[in-house]
Amino acid sequence: MKSLEGRTAIVTGSAQGIGRGIAEVLGREGAKVVIADINGELAEATARQLEDEGIEAIGAGVDVTDTDSLDGLVARTVEEFGSIDILAANAGIYPADPIEEVDRAGWDRVMDLNVAGAFFSFQACLPQMREQGYGRAVFTSSISGPYTGHPGYSHYGASKAAVLGFMRSAAIETARQGITVNAVLPGNVQTPGLDDAGEEHKQAMMASIPMGEFATPADIGWAVRFLASEEARYITGHPLVVDGGQVLPETPLALH
Ligand code: NAD
Repeated sequence: MKSLEGRTAIVTGSAQGIGRGIAEVLGREGAKVVIADINGELAEATARQLEDEGIEAIGAGVDVTDTDSLDGLVARTVEEFGSIDILAANAGIYPADPIEEVDRAGWDRVMDLNVAGAFFSFQACLPQMREQGYGRAVFTSSISGPYTGHPGYSHYGASKAAVLGFMRSAAIETARQGITVNAVLPGNVQTPGLDDAGEEHKQAMMASIPMGEFATPADIGWAVRFLASEEARYITGHPLVVDGGQVLPETPLALH
């Protein structure tokens, strides 16, 4: 029997990139997966590709900044799959903007999607998880913010640190209801989003990774799979770094 047989997982921002990697790993481990993404067409296409592999999957066009959209996602998931056991709240953006160039709308966009989007995704799933007496929430944070910084990513770093602040209180608030709330903190993962950041950014990042390679989306997926498993029942409020050692060097000399 596969480790997540009988479980249902919602993965936000999973039409591509890390979210897709998470959905593929959870699906291959036996979970039914909901590919929830603002790009509904690509979500459908990704779901069909997972189905071709024998994974039960549905694609849903969802905007995580819209609570009505999230309520619709929850209702559809329960109707089609019967439960919500796992939420991987992964949708996020990482625009590169120097501080002077961040206007109020740009700040709000990053916070709305990366912080409020994660918060309200969890809030929408919570009644169902409480009713089941079982739930595994895993947020995609980042090493950037909680552990590291990078010019141009101050608003992004603030948003990813904020997710951890929310995670810790949510973990305590739900600790006696069979629900765990954790986060994965990727370093640099080879995704379309990382490609958009440009070759110079990618080379600079690569030079700071002791393992000398970017993570694959599946590397993050396996970390989520562990936190989403029954075996991880006693782990809650934990930020799990998945970065090939990127936060470790005390000096760049350590990398030579
Ligand atoms: P990506 O841009 O490749 O994919 C993000 C997905 O989210 C896209 O499919 C997009 O359509 C979807 N999305 C965007 N806005 C949405 C919304 N409002 N509602 C629902 N879906 C929406 O990005 P990625 O690199 O896969 O990153 C995924 C997550 O991982 C983000 O939270 C990001 O901050 C985080 N992260 C990425 C890296 C990296 O190196 N790629 C590192 C650390 C953390």
